[in-house]
Amino acid sequence: DAAINRIAAGEVVERPASAVKELIENALDAGARRIDVSYADGGKTLIRVVDDGYGIAADDLPLALSRHATSKIDGSDLLNIHTFGFRGEALPSLGAVGRLTITSRVVGEAGAMIRVAGGKMEPVKPAAINGGTVVELRDLFYATPARLKFLRTDRAEVQAIGDVVKRLAMAEPFVSFTLRDVSGGGEGRLTFRADAQTGDLFDALHGRLRQVLGAEFAENALKIEAEREGVALTGYAALPTFSRGSAVMQYLYVNGRPVRDKLLVGALRGAYFDFLSRGRHPAAVLFLECDPHRVDVNVHPAKSEVRFRDPGTARGLIVSALRHALADSGH
Ligand code: ADP
Ligand code: MG
Repeated sequence: DAAINRIAAGEVVERPASAVKELIENALDAGARRIDVSYADGGKTLIRVVDDGYGIAADDLPLALSRHATSKIDGSDLLNIHTFGFRGEALPSLGAVGRLTITSRVVGEAGAMIRVAGGKMEPVKPAAINGGTVVELRDLFYATPARLKFLRTDRAEVQAIGDVVKRLAMAEPFVSFTLRDVSGGGEGRLTFRADAQTGDLFDALHGRLRQVLGAEFAENALKIEAEREGVALTGYAALPTFSRGSAVMQYLYVNGRPVRDKLLVGALRGAYFDFLSRGRHPAAVLFLECDPHRVDVNVHPAKSEVRFRDPGTARGLIVSALRHALADSGH
């Protein structure tokens, strides 16, 4: 079983940033309003995610570390999933390739913790915690030294962790996020902070845009709101005059999940084709929402590809909505 977990881990956890992604998604699935992430040495020696979500009961801690024991779906409708997680693979995988400690408490019960290292689970113990969940992952890949060799510099891993946090933070403007580098020990250094936004979704998203991508983007952003054949598009797209050289500021989501998808990136490029000079990338934050049965977001656990049943609708919607917005703005 430990061997199976190690193999699965290779799929789910490619690098520290993928561990951070899984842990933040778990916190969001648990209804967290506040998520604090810290890391040391590019996430290689430590990743810690603290949330104020509904927690895990002591009796369920061993289950949370068992493969495919997810509490989130009943298996009847794999496409219609409203949580980030549904495979029940992340925690078992992390426990197979690092030293994992989960401390948690549900309302009205005593706190508890469990440890697993290299796939070996220790018994649940009582633990002091006010509420929510703390997941601590130390020495990622210590049990699979071959994978350690494929990790890039701390700097590159830190960059990837920051990117993951920002992409998820953009999708959840009502949740507050912090990111801290604790390599030096102690409180460490705050590297990203996004306080919870309020108001309607567009207000909140605009505020979050400012926190994640900066005031200049937010002030040069056109509101996007369109719909076609049951696919809804919302978000903000930057004026062509706003461009950070070769920097790519593209945040794309399908049914709330961050995706990197050639079709959507291509649609974005197509929309700006007449407006942007060569070598520049359009900047935008776009959310596509549609019936979950019309899109498969589960192509790969770690990668964020999507497959539309009818790609033309999504593409056409993006191109026309953005062109209209750009034309209306006088471009
Ligand atoms: P999945 O997210 O696919 O269900 P995971 O391995 O990521 O699988 O998590 C296993 C289970 O542990 C989840 O189904 C959930 O019940 C529980 N869990 C994990 N993280 C948290 C958290 N931060 N708060 C509450 N429950 C959690
Ligand atoms: Mg999960």
